[in-house]
Amino acid sequence: MTTLEFTPERIDPMPAEQREALLRMPGFGSLYSDHMVTARWDAEHGWHDARTGPLAAFSLHPATMAFHYGQTIFEGLKAFWRADGRHALFRPGDHARRFARSARRMAMPELSEVDFLAAVTALVRVDRDWVPRTRGHSFYLRPFMIAAETHLSNRPAEEYLFAVIGSPARPAAEPAPIRLWASPDYVRAVDGGTGTVKCGGNYGGSYLAQREAAEHGCDQVVWLDARERRYVEEVGGSNLFFVEAGRLVTPPLSGTLLAGVTRDSILALAPRLGLEVVEEPVTIDDWERGCRSGRITETFACGTARAVAPVGSAATPGREWTVGDGTTGPVTRRVLGALLDVQHGQAPDEFRWLHAV
Ligand code: PMP
Repeated sequence: MTTLEFTPERIDPMPAEQREALLRMPGFGSLYSDHMVTARWDAEHGWHDARTGPLAAFSLHPATMAFHYGQTIFEGLKAFWRADGRHALFRPGDHARRFARSARRMAMPELSEVDFLAAVTALVRVDRDWVPRTRGHSFYLRPFMIAAETHLSNRPAEEYLFAVIGSPARPAAEPAPIRLWASPDYVRAVDGGTGTVKCGGNYGGSYLAQREAAEHGCDQVVWLDARERRYVEEVGGSNLFFVEAGRLVTPPLSGTLLAGVTRDSILALAPRLGLEVVEEPVTIDDWERGCRSGRITETFACGTARAVAPVGSAATPGREWTVGDGTTGPVTRRVLGALLDVQHGQAPDEFRWLHAV
């Protein structure tokens, strides 16, 4: 099998002064680096036509299958500036494997781990000046794949487009605790469905519940299991941890949750912080009662985009409760600090999570 080579084309990058000014402004998701990486797949050639070129719009026929039948998958991973001046991707192999799982589930062609790594590495190398140099800031990479065949038949496409774009993430220094909404009306994922992978439809299907959350003064939806509507599963784009009697508790990967790389990292780091960790089902009643009795002192969401985000309160029709005193708790802070220390190369990388670029 040949591997892809994403050799960069020469382009005119944004002038340095303009870029540096943009990087100083806080924000996420609306600023893009100079380049993008693309590759194409068809049955005859497999993956081919690898490019690193200027960030530019795609021209797609209206019958492109991705517009109609939802074969779209994506990943989100980050490159960090390290104290030694080099850059490092955080756990790119884990993201590559999850991208392959998503492709399999959506009947799309898999991109090998080697090619995925070559693609994300190529973008970080060519756009290294877009990696912010502030602790907690990072260069967010968005690899994605869409069905690119032009056809109206309802079947898996026979042509695909893969691309990676990059966006500097500059979060606010102290994120405000979020308020979660448990929807009585909507579910995210069912056994045998697509909840364990990152396909576009999982997100599009969640926005009506997200709107309902906003109408009730909440920031995000906390998803309950579809069968009994009792077990807390995860948040919009994050997994959840509860601090209960000095332990960290997170719902098990029941077959409907996304296996977060951040979740897995926290499970590995917590014992180093002297915290016991358990993967254990938590019902919404357990959570409310635990908060009311003081047994659960903190709750936080975790994911690549936001790292660790404190949860201050929750609501569902007729009930609402505060977590701890509603502010960011000490365990949440320590977990975030430990994660950032590893990501920025300020603590030993004992699990070999950093991939130097
Ligand atoms: N759950 C969902 C539904 C997500 O979209 C994400 C973001 N990928 C996560 C959890 C967190 O995963 P990760 O830590 O790998 O970003």
